[in-house]
Amino acid sequence: MDIEDTLLMIPGPVKVAPRVLRALSKPMISHRSGEFGAIYSECCGLLKQFFETRNDVVIMTGSGTLGMDAAVASTIGHEDKIVTISNGKFGERFTEIGERYGQAVPVKFEWGAPYDLDKIEAALEKGAKAVAMVHNETSVGLTNPAKEVGKLAKKHDAVFIVDGISSIGGNEFLTDEWNIDIAITGSQKALAVPPGLAVVSVSPKAEERFLPRSSSYYADMKAHIKSVRKSPPQTPFTPAVPLFFAMQEALHMAAEEGFAARRARTAKQAESVRSAAKALGIELFPTVDANSYYSNTVTAMKMPGGVTDDKLRGGMKKQGVIVSGGQEQLKGKIFRIGTMGVCSSGDILRTIQTLELVLAKEGQLRARGAGVEAASKVLG
Ligand code: PLP
Repeated sequence: MDIEDTLLMIPGPVKVAPRVLRALSKPMISHRSGEFGAIYSECCGLLKQFFETRNDVVIMTGSGTLGMDAAVASTIGHEDKIVTISNGKFGERFTEIGERYGQAVPVKFEWGAPYDLDKIEAALEKGAKAVAMVHNETSVGLTNPAKEVGKLAKKHDAVFIVDGISSIGGNEFLTDEWNIDIAITGSQKALAVPPGLAVVSVSPKAEERFLPRSSSYYADMKAHIKSVRKSPPQTPFTPAVPLFFAMQEALHMAAEEGFAARRARTAKQAESVRSAAKALGIELFPTVDANSYYSNTVTAMKMPGGVTDDKLRGGMKKQGVIVSGGQEQLKGKIFRIGTMGVCSSGDILRTIQTLELVLAKEGQLRARGAGVEAASKVLG
């Protein structure tokens, strides 16, 4: 299958619009020029709308994990405690990062299980400089209660760090209202930019509590904040300039669609995938409760009975549709469909139709067309 005909439906990197791809090939400019500063400044202004924040925002060259690393390395010293909440792969990453720089206090739940807020509060009561969580746990298709944890962080005066990497731009994400001190996203998710940029917002409280000297030189948040406040705004080191061109164009597209409209469309699209799954008798993977939600950007489903990962994803790939499998202990047990950024209704319908084709081949299709019909009903 020609790469141009391939439909990428994984939870990041996501499909990039042609006009954003074209922006990547603009002639190079100096990263110390006013021209670059204007692009950086405009991007930060637009990003603040997705973050729903008045805090400063910086763009760092590196993937989303760089933002997680920068947040923890700049806040947590060797003797400092950080409560790290996990119910999937990326929450566990926060624990690994916390252990690297200081004293991680993990509050661990089963992958895909909802948070128990009492357990989180019990950990915070013992005292911690910070608490870190993942808003949208991509590995399990679950959205965690950032607002509730934010209340606990405020009550216990901890710096609240939230990985919004597969959330910001797709989900409602209220940085200021939820007391989030450091929020992080990555370019390759709901922003629909190629991979390679991390965006981080920093509250005055986080800034006040940054270590005088971060353990990371490159990812020292203080240096990044200092540079973005220069006139014109700058980055401390040479940034991936073409990705900034792409970010600017992608944000123009989001602004044209409307930030709230983009989020509403994304939510509807995930709902359409869930509805198709139901019609096809495919079970959703995560467990939700009053405080947790099915993700609006990635839908994780149990592998239909008798169908292997190889047959399902391999069969779909043969038809040019790429979806994700499970990670680590969920390998072969679940598959995941990403619906964020500039994903269209047509993309979703092609994906569901291809899923139906594979299920039919494996003798597991209940009713031909039921998934497509259910999805299109939601999509309108
Ligand atoms: N956190 C979440 C929720 C993610 O979905 C991802 C990537 O899939 C990451 C962190 C890691 O981001 P990156 O691969 O850009 O470093």
